[in-house]
Amino acid sequence: MTEFNLNPIKLTQALVKCQSITPKDDGALLVVQDHLSSMGFDCSPLLFSGNGSYEVKNLFATIGSDGPHLAFAGHTDVVPPGNESSWKHPPFSAIIEDDKLYGRGTEDMKSNIACFISATEQFLKKNGENFGGKISFIITGDEEGEAINGTPQIMEWIKKQNIKIDHCLVGEPTSNAKIGDKVKIGRRGSVNFFLTVKGVQGHTANGHRAQNPVHCLTKLISKILEKPLDEGNEFFLPTAVQIPTFDVGNPAHNVIPEYAFATINIRFNDLHTPESLIQWLNEKIESIFKNMENVTCKVKHEISARSFLNKPGNLSKIVAKSISQATGRNEEPELATDGGTSDARFIKNYCEVIELGIRNQTLHQVDEFVFLDDLNELTKIYYIILENYFSKS
Ligand SMILES: [Zn+2]
Repeated sequence: MTEFNLNPIKLTQALVKCQSITPKDDGALLVVQDHLSSMGFDCSPLLFSGNGSYEVKNLFATIGSDGPHLAFAGHTDVVPPGNESSWKHPPFSAIIEDDKLYGRGTEDMKSNIACFISATEQFLKKNGENFGGKISFIITGDEEGEAINGTPQIMEWIKKQNIKIDHCLVGEPTSNAKIGDKVKIGRRGSVNFFLTVKGVQGHTANGHRAQNPVHCLTKLISKILEKPLDEGNEFFLPTAVQIPTFDVGNPAHNVIPEYAFATINIRFNDLHTPESLIQWLNEKIESIFKNMENVTCKVKHEISARSFLNKPGNLSKIVAKSISQATGRNEEPELATDGGTSDARFIKNYCEVIELGIRNQTLHQVDEFVFLDDLNELTKIYYIILENYFSKS
């Protein structure tokens, strides 16, 4: 079985031709909805607005009856193409050249949606509508932007309808060298700290009448970098602390400045929370500045994402088995937690969630592309996941 009735390549092309740069939709969700409707899905277009963000189109579609409920989650929005003249082919033309399909959103993540639709069509054709469970699609038009009126609102809406999802597959590009060699079961969190140290300005020849904030801030940073926060664990890399900015902005070599500034970015694993890191930093500041006179250190923070981990469960077993059946490879997929953030962070509070998709290689770049063969391979994996998930044995 390598030929799919509903061709995932053609379907990816149809999606890529919609210029759905967040939060514009340009017909992308309708392409998904039309295909799902024709397969018998009950489709609910969901428009969410307010909550301090712009209006976003979303789609929830479901088919089936009692039994386990598997959802597929993804986004139809894409990041801007940047300078279009740098592209080999216009970014929304979905041109195939040799063994590749080019275009913004081919990898992240329209092809993954296309493969899942194609796999589902094949599955329903073989098993009919009474396959012993439910399949749903959770598709948002805003994952790349503020992501406020997207997946978090769909998940709330689903809960209000008393719909219970058991497992969810997110179609972000996770594969590395081969399709299915890597899946994601969690993500690191990210927090930024902005430090402002105020000292006493003066002549560099009269250091005793001044208080140099640069000296104080470097002491603090040395303290922060002195020891790693942890060594990582079974599923996560060690927490990483970086100082991306250090600024004084002093043009004069004979003036002790009044202020010094620095930023700290921490990518943290599930051994920490933003709150525990805020406390950790405050203790460091206290230990350095408590005995200093006329110097203050102020800190502001910004929480970008919390870390999360889905302990590998049933879905992870089914996914691993299906990948090896589809590809004929014996090695288990890597269960990773690296990379940036995704909408899985909003779904993990409701059910076990795993990210599995096309190879991660050109997303957000100029000349983003996918290999045509990979689309067929991924569709095959998704199809076997559906067969294994709903098999009665
Ligand atoms: Zn994405």
